[in-house]
Amino acid sequence: MSEQILPTTARAWHLETRPEGRPVPSDFALREVDLPALGPGQLLVTNEYLSVDPYMRGRMSDKKSYIEPFAVGAPMDGSAVGRVLASNADGFAPGDHVVHFLGMRDHAVIDAATAQTVDPGLAPLSTYLGVLGVTGITAYIGLTRFAKIKEGDTVFVSGAAGAVGSVAGQIAKLLGAGRVIGSAGSDDKVKLLIEEYGFDAAFNYKNGPVAEQLAQAAPDGIDVYFDNVGGEHLEAAIGAVNLHARIVLCGMVSQYNGEEIVGPRNLWNLSVTRSDLLTFMVTEELDLQPDFIRDAGTWLATGKLRYQETVREGLDNTVDAFLALMRGENVGKMIIKL
Ligand code: NAP
Repeated sequence: MSEQILPTTARAWHLETRPEGRPVPSDFALREVDLPALGPGQLLVTNEYLSVDPYMRGRMSDKKSYIEPFAVGAPMDGSAVGRVLASNADGFAPGDHVVHFLGMRDHAVIDAATAQTVDPGLAPLSTYLGVLGVTGITAYIGLTRFAKIKEGDTVFVSGAAGAVGSVAGQIAKLLGAGRVIGSAGSDDKVKLLIEEYGFDAAFNYKNGPVAEQLAQAAPDGIDVYFDNVGGEHLEAAIGAVNLHARIVLCGMVSQYNGEEIVGPRNLWNLSVTRSDLLTFMVTEELDLQPDFIRDAGTWLATGKLRYQETVREGLDNTVDAFLALMRGENVGKMIIKL
């Protein structure tokens, strides 16, 4: 049998310039880099699926954040599913699939300690970046640990047709919410929320002021707001909260490009209603992973939790996919298939 020739270089996306406002393709470049020799405890992987995510926009700026910014002129990274080509680590063998954080490239040498084996026999590999991965567990953590969702709650989810939002709306319902309302950026997405994901009401935030559309969809107010968007949505939600409501600031994608910074002018309403404004970072809450896998696995197997992915093919199209994500051209998790 002929020996497999292992790659010694990789093609990796680099940040060329820090974008001002909305990023453009010339802010990025795809370059070849040498792969280091495989050290002890390391794996050589070929990536099969890459994740592109809104938080990457934050890393393109050099503002203080919860994660290091990308360096200008250096390779970017991100979540990926790779197949092990060579292993220098106990417990990992060629052919294994792993989730790891050296994405935005085709091949990588990674520390096995940072990788988690996943089973393509249990679920499609792409789902380990989406509904069974970071975005799915983000929805679960936000609703259970932070919103502490209760039977009968009225829950509002923004970015509701996206990766986190579509799972959040469905989990809210599965955990007993009385009414789930979603907002998204197109009429087709609104239709999907109601017909596919079982939202009780949904609206297109581009069709009119969010506060007015929310008041129509939630005439009795809201008990939980799962915020993926910030800005006008957050102000509208604060204006609609009932007594002891919980607002979970999961993300603020409308603010990431810094084009139009909108802060809520009605924070006092939180005091009036004794409501909580909560924040969390998924990476700090991963002790909930076994619970999440148990619950999400059951819901997926019984068809109670549905998901969609927007899959773009090829490393060359990765940046286009990221820019499309920021324009709302995805439904569910945006995935790159290599
Ligand atoms: P996603 O929702 O699948 O994709 C981003 C979506 O944002 C787009 O599809 C688009 O949908 C929407 N969008 C873009 N610009 C917008 C604007 N100006 N106003 C309103 N919506 C806009 O992305 P995701 O991965 O699921 O992430 C959702 C949120 O969760 C993000 O804010 C992300 O940063 C956050 N997040 C937080 C954590 C955590 O640990 N706290 C972890 C993961 C993700 P429309 O067509 O509806 O506009």
